[in-house]
This record gives sequence, C-alpha cells and structure tokens, in this order.
Amino acid sequence: MNFEQFNLDARLLKAVQQFGYTTPTPIQEQAIPHLLAGRDLMGLAQTGTGKTAAFILPILQHLTTGTLRQPRALILAPTRELAEQIYEHSHALGKFTPVRSTAIYGGVSKNKQIDRLRRGVEIVIACPGRLLDHIDSGTIDLSHVEIVVLDEADRMCDMGFLPDIRRILKKVPQRKQSMFFSATMPDDIRKLSQSILKNPAEVQIDMNAPAKTVSHALYPVPTDKKKVILFSFLQQTGTGRVLIFTRTKHRARSLGRDLENKGFNTVVLQGNMSQNARQQSINSFKAGKADFLVATDIAARGIDVQDISHVINYDMPDTVDAYTHRIGRTGRAEQTGEALTFAVQEDADQVYQIEKVLKTKLERRRLAGFDYGSFEPERQFPGRSAQHSQPKRTNYNHGSGGNHSQNRNKRSYSNRSN
Ligand code: AMP
Repeated sequence: MNFEQFNLDARLLKAVQQFGYTTPTPIQEQAIPHLLAGRDLMGLAQTGTGKTAAFILPILQHLTTGTLRQPRALILAPTRELAEQIYEHSHALGKFTPVRSTAIYGGVSKNKQIDRLRRGVEIVIACPGRLLDHIDSGTIDLSHVEIVVLDEADRMCDMGFLPDIRRILKKVPQRKQSMFFSATMPDDIRKLSQSILKNPAEVQIDMNAPAKTVSHALYPVPTDKKKVILFSFLQQTGTGRVLIFTRTKHRARSLGRDLENKGFNTVVLQGNMSQNARQQSINSFKAGKADFLVATDIAARGIDVQDISHVINYDMPDTVDAYTHRIGRTGRAEQTGEALTFAVQEDADQVYQIEKVLKTKLERRRLAGFDYGSFEPERQFPGRSAQHSQPKRTNYNHGSGGNHSQNRNKRSYSNRSN
C-alpha cells in the first residue's frame, strides 16, 4: 500500500513525500478511506500509531474545496503539547494548499490567537478551556464547522473536560463529520462516542497494547534506593534519549536537579512551567542538547520526539492507560525501545492491573552489581523470571557531544567486549 492509492490531492501527496512518509501505517490504511468517504469514525489507537496524519490528511483533502478563511474543522486535544504537535502536522502536510491552521490553548497570549482567527483559518486545533474562553468572548465562530475531531478522548475525560466538550459541541452544527480517537474505551467514553458519532466506521489498532517494538521490564526497588538505582542504571547502561516519568511536578523538578548535579544533561517538563519554558525543554530534548527529560504525565502528553531509547517509570503510573501512553513514547516508527518501571511494594496492585490489561507478565529484573542490602527484588513481585539486567549494547550517536554522552558511548563499547 502506498499513499497514491488514497487518491489524495497532488499537493497533499507532495507534502507527504516531503514529510518522509512512504508507506501508510495500519491506522492510516484503515481510517483514511472511510474518512475520505465522509463517514464518522471511532479510532481505538494510541499515540505513536500515526493517528494524527490519519485524520489530518482527509481533513485537508476535504478543505481543499469550498469556502476559505472560516473555521471548518475543529480538533479538540487534551494538552497544549498535543495541540501544538497536531498543528505542526497540519501545517506541514497542508503547506502546498491554501488551507490554514491555528492552535488555541491557554498559557499564551489570547490576543495573538484572536488576531490569527480574524485573519482567517480553516482548521482550529484547540484545548477545551481556552476554546471556551474564545466562544464566551465571541472571538471565534464555530457555526461553519463541518468536521469535529476528539483526540485522546479518554485523556480529555480523565482531565475533567467532559462538560467543556459538551458545551463546545453545542456550538457546532448538528450536521458534520465526527471522529473520535481514544487509546482506551471505558464505559463513559463509549457513551460519549455513541452520543456524538453517527453510524461510525471503527478501526482498532493494538487496543491497550503498547507498541510491539518495546521491551518491558519491572525493577522491584526499595523506596529509599530509587534514586541511587536510577543513577547506577544510567551509569552502567548505554542509553540514547531517555524519558523519565515522575508522579508529581515537585518530584520531576527535584529529580531533574539531582540528575543534572550528577552530570546527566537533563531538562524538565512539568505543568507549573510557563509555555515558553516547556517549549524550550522540548526543543533541547528534540535537538539532542539534553539526553534526559524528566516529565509528569500531563506535561509529556503528546510530545513527539523520535529515537527515545528508554522510557523509565521512576514512579509507577496511576492507571494502566497512563502506562500505555508513557511507554508509547519509545519504540516508535519501528524502532526498538525499552520501558522500565520501578516498583515499590505499594505498587503491587498496580503491577497486577497492568499485567492483567496487557495480558502479559512484565519481566522482573534486578540491577546487576547493585547492593540491594536485605531487599530481595525477586521476592517482592514474583514473576516470570528474575533476570539480571544486561547493559544494552547499542552505541547511540548523540547530537550533544557532552561529557555524559561520550562516557556513555565508551561504556557501550566496553560492554561489547564483555
Ligand atoms: P502519531 O501517532 O500521530 O503521534 O504519530 C507518531 C509518529 O509517527 C509521528 O512522528 C509521525 O510523524 C510519524 N508518522 C506518522 N505516519 C507515518 C508514516 N506513514 N510513515 C512514517 N512515519 C509516520
């Protein structure tokens, strides 16, 4: 299958080529024909599957005909980062067409957004809160919307956006094409989708199953040794770009500081940072200036960084869904990645839940050469096999060229002769 087979506008095909896509991903292959035919769609798919292009391309195709300079497609997303990422895709894939997009979210100037809306756009990508602000102040007119997308609907509900979404949907015409994307399908999400979608086509990509290119491991750890185990792991393992999740903003800040003090080139992404500071962190991580990003779930939502070698759950995620989303950050686009989760005794129930949903036991590991004292990792979470971690034998090529990267590469080489 190739993109030509969708009969897309030549300007879109050109952009697809420039973007570097050659073969459609499974969700694109399944969803695009339905969407081009104007059908509603329920897409069960996690981030990393290519779902953004799966809905953006048909939207752009639709908007290449008809009136310009009024919002005709509305995409709702839970976080600024995700909205920004969808905007980047929409902008890049639509660059040879006259279709314009804009992203609308809080934390940045409202006036600039008003100005952009006045000058005219066809695609609005918005977080619910700021969009309602614009609706209430009469600075956006949604009466010409023909297509609505709810992206990461489960997360929007988790974040309490459901009442906002209902209010927003009252402002768009009844007659429209609707698309609904969600990584999971709890009852409230199914009900919401049923109230919105009319006779939808359904596509499902690896529901609740993280990318197959990710290997998972569980590291039982004593609470008071989490940090030293993390440092030891990073020191003895050849890692590339590493994304580390903490439970709270405070823990993200403090772990980021400690890593930096240990000589790991680290940036932090957490909800208390200004939009500018967040963007700076993402940019340095993307550009390879920092090899380590410490983030909270919400802040990291939707960030699109290629080549993440390790996702480390320094703190156990609160939900299975959050686990799936976090580790969806590695192993993207057919590259292999590793996901490791530190588990303390209180996490036992959550480990059980994750394994139940994933229908697999996470491999138990202990960090080779680390003195656990009287703590016996294998006894905490009896599992398939208690293996010793093997430092990864990859020689990652870092853009930063910092000390840590160089040392790490040396370590990777020396591992090779083991
Ligand atoms: P998404 O699931 O939309 O967040 O996409 C995950 C990543 O895959 C993004 O970096 C996309 O740009 C990339 N991607 C999407 N479609 C394709 C494709 N057909 N070929 C290669 N990469 C793609």
